Amino acid sequence: MCIFCKIIKAEIPSKKVLENSDFLAFEDINPQAPIHILIIPKVHYESFETSPSEVISKMSDFIKAVAKEIKVNENGYRLVTNIGENSGQEVKHLHFHLIAGAKLKWGNFI
Ligand code: AMP
Repeated sequence: MCIFCKIIKAEIPSKKVLENSDFLAFEDINPQAPIHILIIPKVHYESFETSPSEVISKMSDFIKAVAKEIKVNENGYRLVTNIGENSGQEVKHLHFHLIAGAKLKWGNFI
């Protein structure tokens, strides 16, 4: 079972930010900015590429609810989802990184 499925089952602890019947948001263990949250579906999909559009659609509403909950919806935030080897995706369970809490830099991708 993948590490995020274990987090969903509470076999591994996490710092929850928001949850509903379909999705979970929790703090990244290795934050890259003052706010760094991971948002995952409770059903396992490997990445954005292999996820049904309906899941992505529902997930976008949940992500907006997370942004509102932590009050970054007005000042802004960044969403990132890594897909496959060239992106450096480490955990093969669909997740969006919600990064915020500072003026974020851009670039240095290669
Ligand atoms: P990615 O490279 O897009 O697959 O990102 C995986 C993310 O999962 C990284 O930012 C890790 O810091 C994070 N991560 C790995 N294990 C845990 C964990 N147990 N709790 C919270 N975040 C984790």
